[in-house]
Amino acid sequence: MKVRVRLAPSPTGRLHIGTARTAAFNWLFARRHSGSFLLRIEDTDKERSRSEYTENILDSLRWLGLTWDGEPIVQTNRQAEHHHAINNLLARGLAYRCYCSEEELEAMRIEQKHSGQAPRYDNRHRGLTPKQEQKFRDEGCDSVIRFRIDDDADICWNDMVRGLVQWRGSDLGGDMVIARRTSSNSIGEPLYNLVAVVDDAAMAVSHVIRGEDHIANTAKQILLYRALELPLPNFAHTPLILNAEGRKLSKRDGVTSITDFRQMGYTAEALINYMILLGWSVPQGMNERFSLEQAAAVFDLNRVSRAGARFDWDKLNWLNAQFLHEMPASELLKSLIPLWRDRGWSCPANDWGEDLCTLLRPSLALLQDGVEQAKPFFVMPELGEEAQQQLKVEGCVNALRDLSRRLESSDWDGRKIVKAQQMIEEVATAIGIKKGILMKSLRAALFGKLQGPDLFTAWSLLARIGQDRQRLIRCI
Ligand code: GLU
Repeated sequence: MKVRVRLAPSPTGRLHIGTARTAAFNWLFARRHSGSFLLRIEDTDKERSRSEYTENILDSLRWLGLTWDGEPIVQTNRQAEHHHAINNLLARGLAYRCYCSEEELEAMRIEQKHSGQAPRYDNRHRGLTPKQEQKFRDEGCDSVIRFRIDDDADICWNDMVRGLVQWRGSDLGGDMVIARRTSSNSIGEPLYNLVAVVDDAAMAVSHVIRGEDHIANTAKQILLYRALELPLPNFAHTPLILNAEGRKLSKRDGVTSITDFRQMGYTAEALINYMILLGWSVPQGMNERFSLEQAAAVFDLNRVSRAGARFDWDKLNWLNAQFLHEMPASELLKSLIPLWRDRGWSCPANDWGEDLCTLLRPSLALLQDGVEQAKPFFVMPELGEEAQQQLKVEGCVNALRDLSRRLESSDWDGRKIVKAQQMIEEVATAIGIKKGILMKSLRAALFGKLQGPDLFTAWSLLARIGQDRQRLIRCI
């Protein structure tokens, strides 16, 4: 069987981490089986769908490396097919118009609640005669279209993650609305379960891989496949992503969209790696740090867990740091330049920028750290309290003055670090100050603080852009 999977995001918000993880599993499954990964934009909810969300979804998928095959299908362009399916069901008596008003349905729900029953539509308009229907129409009543769900229908499928799943028609809340309310005799906006089935079949989707919050929908959709006489795809329901308290990760947890993670400074490589680990366990012997390609070579739905996957920030941060530490300096520079530019800092030359990245790289956990840590190379730093104290140590100012003079008369351009080391030796001897104290004071003067990366490398970077001497001068 040719594997064809799809992601079907609704453009009602930015790409959510749960949807992105579903995308990753679909993408990996397609790659593993040399199949296709398709994209369908489910924009049938016109009120909540926005084109900027579609853009965000496409952009975030591209950023993560989850590229799709062919052009995305836009669901609202397929309305004729959806109407055709609804008319087919209506004509065969498998769907019908229900004229119950919202108030009537609400009263039904309240009554069910009072008597301790689960809320469901009681199918009261299932058997309306043409005469009764006409009466409702004459009274100007709105109608929805409902699909018949027989209480004794047996629904079961062999879920590729969860094994055998069984449902009874009676568990599905009564006859299901497949087209929204309309005041005319036309067909209102077709709804998710109907359009998903029609489109998945039209796209020849072989495996529907989606979050477990869709399990009840799958039961309903299987009934629609049967009614429309369409071939059933395979189904796989992946576990939800949970927060630290074990509840579904939601907007209340703060960051949930891929854009949020991107803005916080996570790399695409670390984020995609981490998302795949949320629910999938690596085969024995495989490192938990992997690329999309490496995961695709071994991906298997059997290794997807049924239990919810708890989001673990420490693990994500650890992975992100690992990816940053191994990133080539040229690539790190490419990622940092736009962030530096946002602060108004421009990088004097690529080799300078790459050397700065090499210097900062081992201490980065988030990409954003590369902004804070690069700041003293772009902006004259304030002298912090500790730095001021250091500069008061006896002999320090003299030594820095001597160093400044040597710098003025030397032709050192910051390139040869041995030259800088020599200068420090010479000044320490000439002034009679310990080398360690001199270096500490030099760091204080150049960077305004006492901690930081390798001093000689950092100093030489400042020297290359002619910024070291003026920083000394302000302290002497
Ligand atoms: N639009 C649905 C969602 O975003 C798609 C579910 C499905 O994959 O069928 O949850």
